Amino acid sequence: MKVDVLIVGGGIAGLWLLAELRAQGINALLATDELGKGQTIASQGIIHGGTKYALTGKLTGAAMAIGEMPRIWRAALNGEGSVDLSKVNILAESQLLWTSGGIGSRMTGFFASKAMKSRMDAVPHAEYPELFRHPAFHGGLYRLDEPVLDVPALLACLREQLADALVQVDVQRSGLQQAGNTFRYHAVLPDGSELEIDASQIVLTAGAGNEALMAPLASTPLSQRGGVLSQRGESLLERCSLSGVEGSRRELPTMQRRPLQMVMLRGGLPMIYAHALGMSDKPRATITSHKDAQGQTVWYIGGQPAEQGVGKPAAEVIAATRHELAELLPWVDFDGMEWATWNVDRAEGCQPDGSRPDQPAFFHMANVTLAWPTKLAFAPMLASSLQSALSVAKSVGKWPVESLPTPPVAHSIWNEVDFIRL
Ligand SMILES: Cc1cc2nc3c(=O)[nH]c(=O)nc-3n(C[C@H](O)[C@H](O)[C@H](O)COP(=O)(O)OP(=O)(O)OC[C@H]3O[C@@H](n4cnc5c(N)ncnc54)[C@H](O)[C@@H]3O)c2cc1C
Repeated sequence: MKVDVLIVGGGIAGLWLLAELRAQGINALLATDELGKGQTIASQGIIHGGTKYALTGKLTGAAMAIGEMPRIWRAALNGEGSVDLSKVNILAESQLLWTSGGIGSRMTGFFASKAMKSRMDAVPHAEYPELFRHPAFHGGLYRLDEPVLDVPALLACLREQLADALVQVDVQRSGLQQAGNTFRYHAVLPDGSELEIDASQIVLTAGAGNEALMAPLASTPLSQRGGVLSQRGESLLERCSLSGVEGSRRELPTMQRRPLQMVMLRGGLPMIYAHALGMSDKPRATITSHKDAQGQTVWYIGGQPAEQGVGKPAAEVIAATRHELAELLPWVDFDGMEWATWNVDRAEGCQPDGSRPDQPAFFHMANVTLAWPTKLAFAPMLASSLQSALSVAKSVGKWPVESLPTPPVAHSIWNEVDFIRL
């Protein structure tokens, strides 16, 4: 099979890029196992507008870059532009942020800062959701310009639109193969049949799976790599001490993993979408609400409990989160509710100090580009940078992929775990 662009990996990064390329009439195909498996299906679906990044009190590069994303996503959700998400369920038009009682003076300055005024408003008391109407709540409540999306619905919507450009592969047995100075993709379909795919450009958007996929690139002698790096590739290498230029050899960029142990709480809970802010510049908890297969509400909890829970036994992480929620929402009775945790890695372009990257990262070598969006919200920015960098020429005819197997959407995390009642 010949295509203009082959995308390997069907999370939000690959799907958004595919939608953009197809809208331009480029013959692009995406190979993957399950759509969103890994990070996208595990994400909280918040289209960040930068508030979380700006909590340090400074408007950092990350806060600036991500500030544009809600507008781009809202256009897609309104059916405007090349990616049509008008069928996607919006769980909440805005994410809330609540402060619990006394917050530090630095934080007070943050709320008053000019930079934040366009991104958040104080919620009038009359509009408080039920959960915060309790007389014991003395904090402040703010509304952020950050819609929260139903991620399984987002993946299903993209799957439906792009079905004829998707192919399900057995990822363990499929991969890149060298063909002269370029690479092609050897695909093994679920029924064991094989397909060789030649593409002018191959974009790897497999999240944590990029690490294994790029192995054939690393073992290729430099002379056969062409040695030509794009400007973006050079700048990524410079930023990344682990993969700097060593003598005449150039190393491959590395991926970093930042793990999380997310916590889930199921029971008679209200649907809320909110960050809880304490004295630190990191949310004490970030809660989104979802319905499981039986229609029960699940609170999906990230922020500090998930960061601090890494590597700990689930029971310990649950106990700490329960304690934290009891402090944050002392008027809510959590007795008899069901709890679970989920371990997942965030996969990103490496940073010299292992910190969160400010923006999406990509690296180009021969006809292969490795890409990590860093955030769900950044998928449009990554797709547009890739399109400018790749300058794909339309050259080959359309391949009828209708007969190829279409990858399913990955299962929602809350339908995969075993909850325990406490
Ligand atoms: C717990 C958690 C919560 C998050 N919440 C948010 C949030 O609220 N807002 C936000 O903006 N960001 C959030 N993020 C970050 C966001 O989820 C990720 O940045 C984004 O989903 C990454 O998308 P991706 O397409 O690069 O990778 P993934 O979503 O990981 O997708 C990888 C795809 O590649 C496939 N694949 C893997 N290996 C192979 C292979 N060898 N061959 C072919 N296919 C392969 C997988 O099956 C999958 O389809 C969160 C991340 C985590 C972990």
